[in-house]
Amino acid sequence: MDLFEYQARDLFAKHGVPVLDGEVIDTPEAAAAVTERLGGRAVVKAQVKVGGRGKAGGVKLAADPADAVEKARAILGMDIKGHTVHKVMLAQTADIKEEYYVSFLLDRTNRTFLAMASVQGGVEIEVVAEENPEALAKIAVDAVEGVTPAKAAEIVAAAKFPAEIADQVADVLQKLWVVFVKEDALLVEVNPLVKTGEGKIVALDGKVSLDENADFRQPEHEALEDKAAANPLEAKAKEKGLNYVKLEGEVGIIGNGAGLVMSTLDVVAYAGENHGGVKPANFLDIGGGASAEVMANGLEIILGDPDVKSVFVNVFGGITACDAVANGIVQALELLSSKGEAVTKPLVVRLDGNNAELGRQILTDANHPLVQQVDTMDGAADKAAELAAAK
Ligand code: GDP
Ligand code: MN
Repeated sequence: MDLFEYQARDLFAKHGVPVLDGEVIDTPEAAAAVTERLGGRAVVKAQVKVGGRGKAGGVKLAADPADAVEKARAILGMDIKGHTVHKVMLAQTADIKEEYYVSFLLDRTNRTFLAMASVQGGVEIEVVAEENPEALAKIAVDAVEGVTPAKAAEIVAAAKFPAEIADQVADVLQKLWVVFVKEDALLVEVNPLVKTGEGKIVALDGKVSLDENADFRQPEHEALEDKAAANPLEAKAKEKGLNYVKLEGEVGIIGNGAGLVMSTLDVVAYAGENHGGVKPANFLDIGGGASAEVMANGLEIILGDPDVKSVFVNVFGGITACDAVANGIVQALELLSSKGEAVTKPLVVRLDGNNAELGRQILTDANHPLVQQVDTMDGAADKAAELAAAK
């Protein structure tokens, strides 16, 4: 989960990383009092989960409270790379002498953590890495040892930070590592980390991405979720513990096993090319168990998606055999109609693997008017795409 800048800033402050005072608002009028409190001047910053806000006009200096109201009015509602600005952060202005870059991230390829640092900050770090790779120091960080004073000094030296700020930067690096570990982050990035006119090191812009797999031990992180931006179907699926991702197409997909579902998406998208370009409407992996209840929950989410015109249930029986899945489908349909949510969209079911014959027989006997079976994955995908296109 990516955080807004102001949320990253709060986490930095919590762990002692030097930041400037600031406050988030969502109406232009609120800017006046906040700017007053911040000392009469402020920087007005769009809060969107995308970089390059400065270049896009989403970061503006305000000379006084009235100016802050004007700048906030100009930035609120702005579209930055497809993200609408609903909030702005007002922060104390910084007297910037130099802009640096530091980050910690999970380096999956090398199975370690990585520190990156550069004295050429403020600009997009991808550009530095591309045009001037020797200016971006990369130092592996051992998960157990972490960022010791010696490791921090190594990063500072590798990036060639000036001697007079070396100790301050090393201290900030150790504190950012505490943020990384204590908050279960996958990324902690500061760009720019600045040197002020007084020679102080301050984190001016932060980007933090949290590991949702650690949510169970981070009860405070739930409050950081951007509930307004979440897709309502995804939110409902999450509540029911389903592995669901909303996509843009018309064919609802249910499968067991992430790999099978991924390939089902490909096969449906391919089949859709022959049917006016219909596409998969979602990813939904109901997992190995595939009980009637899980099947009913999955169907309920998918049938509740107004974009869905047909549904493709693609199951390969393994430990949970096809007869159990078929019974699950039949019971799920009964469950839904008893809840008054009768199925109104055609379902194409393909059962293969363990006890496929038995499973198919169960569905044949149930004889549901909207359920049809196709034995092959390609054939079933084609049928589902055709039904979606016909609607
Ligand atoms: P980004 O463009 O989304 O990365 O947003 P940043 O928060 O990094 O701001 C972009 C740039 O605006 C920074 O690199 C600074 O040069 C400038 N900036 C941000 N805050 C201040 C400030 O308080 N004072 C001054 N003078 N410049 C600022
Ligand atoms: Mn930045």
